[in-house]
Amino acid sequence: MGLGIGLLGFQTTIAHSVTLSGTGVHSGAEVAITFHPAEADSGIVFQRVVGEQAISEFKAVSSQVGNTDLCTILGFSPATSIATIEHVMAAIYALGLDNLLIEVHGAEMPIMDGSSAPFIEAIEQTGIKALATKRRYIRILKPVRIESGASWSEFTPYDGMRFEVEIDFDCPLIGRQAWKGDITPSVFKTELSRARTFGFMRDVERMWAAGRGLGSSLENSVVIADDNTVINMEGLRYKDEFVRHKTLDAVGDLALAGAPFIGCYRSYRGGHKMNANALKALMSDPTAYEIVETATQRQRSAPREVIAVSAP
Ligand SMILES: [Zn+2]
Repeated sequence: MGLGIGLLGFQTTIAHSVTLSGTGVHSGAEVAITFHPAEADSGIVFQRVVGEQAISEFKAVSSQVGNTDLCTILGFSPATSIATIEHVMAAIYALGLDNLLIEVHGAEMPIMDGSSAPFIEAIEQTGIKALATKRRYIRILKPVRIESGASWSEFTPYDGMRFEVEIDFDCPLIGRQAWKGDITPSVFKTELSRARTFGFMRDVERMWAAGRGLGSSLENSVVIADDNTVINMEGLRYKDEFVRHKTLDAVGDLALAGAPFIGCYRSYRGGHKMNANALKALMSDPTAYEIVETATQRQRSAPREVIAVSAP
């Protein structure tokens, strides 16, 4: 088990810096990122670096999000913004990391294998360290719901950090799928972190024609052909990999709250935009949540545990 139950409720960072590199899914360019330890109360900060020079810096909070059309982008100008942060943020949030400086040599995160697993591995390799400052949580006090056509999502009070995500696609291969569970580092790691991004062949071709998704390939996406088959040779990693990836995305999107929430987040036919709007709706109603320093009185329902990680 973890570093000890006594560390529950304290902020964390990583033990040492760790670097990852790979392809950017939108640009197709090679990008390298380095996670650095950071002080308490600094939050998750992304820094875009050219050569030795930092050209922009963004705290990973919803007010810094410029666009969520294809992926989540921090910043408002393509020259300085940082794209495709959602799978990295999901790993960071699920592992209970509060403070991190992420140096980005490029305009977006590397897509790696299209899941959060490589980021989890990198963080576990270096290890998680508790800091002396208390963590703050966002405790949901009353339901907040948004709707858009047939889609909806809502926050409700709950003693833990719970996600209930349901998707419903016309495509029979996906159809209706649901994932429900309390997010802990081990649940996220085993049940969600390996779920890859997915798309339809017709959309991939359209994106390529528009000069987007240039780094997208079978190495980093599950691709569904129009006859409703997965064309990746290796098949699916989970029978219901699609909804698991949607849940992973939701974890990454809600990470932009800037602190762990204590509550249940449900969504039906949602996506990045709906997750972002739900977070906005929650934040704009100060009677719907409170900021607390203690997750819960009862240990067993604590939404976070400091995971067992050892430096190499
Ligand atoms: Zn995704």
